[in-house]
Amino acid sequence: MIYLDNNATTKIDSKVFLKHCEVLRKNYGNASSLYPMGVESKNSIEDSRIQVAKFINADLNSGDRVIFTSCATESNNAVFHSVLGQNVKGQHIIISEVEHPSVYNMALYYEEVGCEVTRIKVDTNGVLNVSQLMNSIRNDTSIVSLMMVNSETGVLNDIENISKMIKQSFPKVLIHTDAVQAAGKTPIDTKLLNVDFLTLSGHKFHAPKGIGVLYIKRGVSFNPFIIGGHQEMGLRAGTENVANIVALGEAAEIAKKSLEDGINTEIEALRDYMEQELKRLFPYNIIFGEQSNRIGNTTNIGFKAVDGTKLVLGLAQKGVFVSSGTACNSISASPSRVLSAMNAPSEYIRSIRISLSKENCMSDIQTLLSSLKELI
Ligand code: PLP
Repeated sequence: MIYLDNNATTKIDSKVFLKHCEVLRKNYGNASSLYPMGVESKNSIEDSRIQVAKFINADLNSGDRVIFTSCATESNNAVFHSVLGQNVKGQHIIISEVEHPSVYNMALYYEEVGCEVTRIKVDTNGVLNVSQLMNSIRNDTSIVSLMMVNSETGVLNDIENISKMIKQSFPKVLIHTDAVQAAGKTPIDTKLLNVDFLTLSGHKFHAPKGIGVLYIKRGVSFNPFIIGGHQEMGLRAGTENVANIVALGEAAEIAKKSLEDGINTEIEALRDYMEQELKRLFPYNIIFGEQSNRIGNTTNIGFKAVDGTKLVLGLAQKGVFVSSGTACNSISASPSRVLSAMNAPSEYIRSIRISLSKENCMSDIQTLLSSLKELI
């Protein structure tokens, strides 16, 4: 089996897996319990918080907050609920046309209940229209939510520069970035990004599914979305999923070290070789976002008049797993919203997405290429 769908989810790292099992079987105390087993759970949650803070350069001692959630979808939803509150009528939201559904549909929901939503366009390379963005912001804009890396194309937004421009002219506007597809692929530095909220998801960087992170900048108020007990400093109620939290902390530490050791350069070299061969073997293709600043693990390629869904199923029969569009819409027959926003030509829009991780090697790429040769 060759797994090339790492933007959908990743294999749990073996060290992370061991930690996870250890907590499930040995240190399974409730973090609110007063006896040693509970205290141990509480301490391991705090250790994970520190690991995540280091991963994203957050300063817990100065008031930055890192809270654990059930997934990035929850974190993204929580940001919108917190910022928009109860009196939503007339509030202004800015997102891009290519956000993940957990942001895109959240904005749609708020539009239906009375908010005003501006969706910023991207060009044919997937690059955000920054002048439209700057012209759209108003003094009464409540939130700007823009992803750091696009899950379908790997195109990077320059969040650091965008937030600098926004904060210069509109210091009160809150900025959120969904950094799910950036984690482990490029450094994430909340000090440089200067955003008010940032979201991560464990399963995109070799931690288990069902664990997310929400970063909240110091001084930024946050109204909890899940109300109940006092867990997570009262910001996210519910008995903590200690095993998942510990696993995510470990995965964050490993990802930080791997990035420092240059893993992203190795993955990018493999991806670039794959793209070079794809172009040589199948001249009638479009690699979406190729001209843009892209993350090094992702290739979204459309082959002229070839249906990506059929290709995905054909490859799967050969034991090679890639996706058509995002995992969320891979069963939908309609073309990708992201590629439509990029004005992708109709003959190429039913593309496939190949996304690599540290688990992949050259022979995976050779098998993919030979399988595609047989299928196309
Ligand atoms: N944001 C982005 C950019 C994603 O790619 C995904 C998952 O595909 C999510 C959010 C949702 O993550 P989760 O599965 O943790 O809810």
